[in-house]
Amino acid sequence: MLERPAHATKITCVKKTIIIHYHEISLKGHNRGWFENHLQQNIAATIKGLTYESMRRFGGRLLIELRQDSPVEEIVGRLTRVFGVANLAVAVDVDASMEAIKSALVELISQTRFGSFRIDTRRGTKDFPLNSQQVNQQLGAFVQQLSGAEVRMENADAVFFVELVGPRAFIYVSKIPGAGGLPSGTGGRVLCLLSGGIDSPVAAFRLMRRGCRVVYVHFHSFPHTTLESQEKVRSILRILSRFQLQSQLHLVPFAEVQREIVAYAPPPLRVVLYRRFMVRIAEELARKEKILALVTGDSLGQVASQTLENITSITAATAMPVFRPLIGDDKEEIIRTARQIGTYDISILADQDCCSLFVPRHPETMSSLEQVEKAEEGLDIQRLVQSALQEATRETIFPDFSSQG
Ligand code: ATP
Ligand code: MG
Repeated sequence: MLERPAHATKITCVKKTIIIHYHEISLKGHNRGWFENHLQQNIAATIKGLTYESMRRFGGRLLIELRQDSPVEEIVGRLTRVFGVANLAVAVDVDASMEAIKSALVELISQTRFGSFRIDTRRGTKDFPLNSQQVNQQLGAFVQQLSGAEVRMENADAVFFVELVGPRAFIYVSKIPGAGGLPSGTGGRVLCLLSGGIDSPVAAFRLMRRGCRVVYVHFHSFPHTTLESQEKVRSILRILSRFQLQSQLHLVPFAEVQREIVAYAPPPLRVVLYRRFMVRIAEELARKEKILALVTGDSLGQVASQTLENITSITAATAMPVFRPLIGDDKEEIIRTARQIGTYDISILADQDCCSLFVPRHPETMSSLEQVEKAEEGLDIQRLVQSALQEATRETIFPDFSSQG
């Protein structure tokens, strides 16, 4: 182990700054400023209420200057859920001079165990007198002399990152992966049909990751079912709202629609008809809110209602695009994502979903449009849709950051 150099103690109160990188949005040409504004606003909103010194954009990076009393872990935890962030690092923030950078390295080296290393220098602005290669060489020699470790370009035990941005230099050893994707609010709004299950929260997450703001609709059969399914959906949304901070939830009573379908349509077609009514009602809601597309958690062949034939019959009930981001995913992949985003443990809790009511023993897997339209002949579609919409309620759900892993 290295001995702690005497002068290192002088910089124990080092200034720290979180440096945030965003790769993909820098590809967006003249939209770049617009994307960056969204990202900065989203980040500010995400860490609102937590102590930090300042936030600014500079040299293609976002910099959050910390204070001694900043809750670094909490801030980092929240930042890893902001879409548009490629990666971030908690860096020592010093003057952009070789002397100051070396002092910072002395401090970092004393806290890092390594037998091999490399220096990775990037210049965010080009005003530093040495180029990246020269900085790498000089700092490499310095660290080698100080630590006795060997320089390795591939698979080094430690990488010391040095970023030169205007008058400041940022030095750090670990890069934390960000959530990727595009900043929330840059992709328009979509309406997600959210059950209490595993799949639809993951589908919503996928659209959020591409920059969409997701609005939600949940259909419930209260009073035939308990209020549990609604509470479950709220719990899921408190987790999903960590990614977009506020979620609008429409709760639509579905019992009347179900009663009529059960009374007038052949049992094997019930589930397909439930779904056709769901997309019709969702479409109306979406139009009122100027939302352009619907999202569901369907995955091809997963259950009887998700065969190609039934998906086709369901989609035919709406003129709106229906996005199904999980269509080609295996259940294992969906579960893995649900665990990562934190919704899985809630989704697997038992509840009474509206669609678990009156489910036929042998549901049709190969419905045709002709068949379902015939089955709906006895139903007053417009009246049922309008009456469900009239009874619908709406609420706003805020994030729960308390239990983040
Ligand atoms: P999930 O895990 O999302 O519930 P699932 O595999 O259980 O999906 P289904 O129950 O057939 O599949 O539902 C397919 C999709 O229909 C769901 O992913 C969701 O988008 C929508 N959906 C189902 N039930 C409801 C509901 N009660 N409210 C809103 N949307 C629903
Ligand atoms: Mg379900």
